[in-house]
Amino acid sequence: MIEPGGNDKKLPLLVSHTDLERVSESPYRSRCPACNKGVLFVHRDQTTLALINADRCTYCGQLVIYTDKIIAGEPVLDVHTNSK
Ligand SMILES: [Zn+2]
Repeated sequence: MIEPGGNDKKLPLLVSHTDLERVSESPYRSRCPACNKGVLFVHRDQTTLALINADRCTYCGQLVIYTDKIIAGEPVLDVHTNSK
């Protein structure tokens, strides 16, 4: 059982947004693969409103990095590189 915020210190999880389970009609929202309870909304850059590849679970706080270049037809901005 994962506590709320229990994964917020964990290393980022690299995931493919395409492969995640959608939780609503929204093409963005998906179920958190770390806790299976929280939701990943897909965030946007505050200035440009472009989709960004770093996201955090609403429940466990897990940081996820999307490996997708495009989500729901929109290009994804690479703000977090985990390869180094
Ligand atoms: Zn979670």
